[in-house]
Amino acid sequence: MTFIDSHAHLCDPAFDTDREQTIARVLAAGVSHFIEIACQVDEWNGGLALAEKYPAHCAAVLGIHPEFARTYTPQAHARLTQLLKDPHAVAVGEIGLDYVYLHESDKDTQIHVLEQMLQLANDVQKPIVLHVRREGEDYEPYERTFDMLRHLWKPSKSLKKPGVLHCFSAGYDTAKEALDLGLLLGINGCFTYKKNEYIREAVKKAGVDKLILETDCPYLSPQGKRGTRNDPSNIPLIGQWVADYLDIPVEKLAEITTQNTLDLYGLK
Ligand SMILES: [Zn+2]
Repeated sequence: MTFIDSHAHLCDPAFDTDREQTIARVLAAGVSHFIEIACQVDEWNGGLALAEKYPAHCAAVLGIHPEFARTYTPQAHARLTQLLKDPHAVAVGEIGLDYVYLHESDKDTQIHVLEQMLQLANDVQKPIVLHVRREGEDYEPYERTFDMLRHLWKPSKSLKKPGVLHCFSAGYDTAKEALDLGLLLGINGCFTYKKNEYIREAVKKAGVDKLILETDCPYLSPQGKRGTRNDPSNIPLIGQWVADYLDIPVEKLAEITTQNTLDLYGLK
């Protein structure tokens, strides 16, 4: 039984003192791959370097997180366009809209950068990793993102799975719109938190075939480990929570989510 962490930030300074030891622990825990998300300008080289260092276990996703949209210059755009041609760069992300960070990058800036990211994904024919976060009960960032996808996103038919809505944390109506667009749902520690029954219900309704697992480390440690640094060795624990809730054997969940992640990122 092997698992994959479809969304990690191991280049985060939180791992500066023990990155290699952490990765050794991750592999020993039965997590065969960790996908590194490099989502601001000064993370791209590090993300690619990690993928080059662990080619059998790691790949990089490059893009601009909405929080950092204001830092996206024409020079950065030219560089990202080049870097995305690297075979170690397997997707564009994480990209989207985040209304918690409007003080960092305003709505228009976030929207403009998301348009550019979708255009890039079309051009390089690689899948997308979406990050959408609402402030309170206002689902407008989801509506707007899905609307932009419907109008601007042209995923290549050659992609087995064209994208994922990472850190899924909404109800079934939102899940359904994502699934209709061909997106997978990225499930992490949020699924395990007591107050999040609505997420669990939506995930159950979506079905195991639509899921992949992620940590979003160093953030969002699963229940029981909250307050400590998260890392990809927690994926089997998250998988066990999901399998228990869906009432299926964890081996089956591991098999399906692993294959979905390999299909998404075009890995073998
Ligand atoms: Zn992330």
